[in-house]
Amino acid sequence: MRIVLMGPPGAGKGTQAALLENKYNLIHLSTGEILRKEIKEDSSLGHQAKTFMDKGQLVPDTLLLEMMERRLKNPDCDGGYLLDGFPRTIPQAEGLAVSLDKLDLSLDYAISLFADELELVYRLVLRGKNSGRSDDTPDVIRDRQHIYWEHTAPVLDFYRSKGLLKEIDGIGSIDEVFTRIVDVVEK
Ligand code: ADP
Repeated sequence: MRIVLMGPPGAGKGTQAALLENKYNLIHLSTGEILRKEIKEDSSLGHQAKTFMDKGQLVPDTLLLEMMERRLKNPDCDGGYLLDGFPRTIPQAEGLAVSLDKLDLSLDYAISLFADELELVYRLVLRGKNSGRSDDTPDVIRDRQHIYWEHTAPVLDFYRSKGLLKEIDGIGSIDEVFTRIVDVVEK
């Protein structure tokens, strides 16, 4: 199974991604996690990404596209992958489509988790108390939400027009939301 998982910050992507990864034996590629690891390792990519991430801004498309094409080439992705947090812009979605075509790994579904904005901010402020993430503060959370609506929401239309989009209500218990996703991908 080859999936892109989308949704505004706080929609529960990470939690659902972990469940999907387990159930379907997928390689879970979270660009946020990969970038945070690069920063921790003090790599050149990490350096370039950090200034954007701390402010809640998007890291430039070319960096993301190179990083992800390199990662998707790894044969471990042949058995199925789950992309989490990528693509986040139209140029990323277009670039990804070209890479996947080249690698003969085109997508089965783009799953979009949606939830009410107030609920999302509430969840993230709570998470920020424990996550220690530099971008989980109220101001930066709000900026990340705006960036989502401005740059990432158009990617939903991109996948809708290709017939790949599945929209799923992200409000409910973790299990309830997971069941909704499973129902859709197994249909
Ligand atoms: P969340 O979805 O909770 O905001 P992520 O862990 O997915 O968090 O991403 C954290 C940060 O990493 C983003 O705010 C952004 O700066 C950077 N980032 C992650 N994925 C991308 C991407 N596809 N394009 C640009 N920047 C990205």
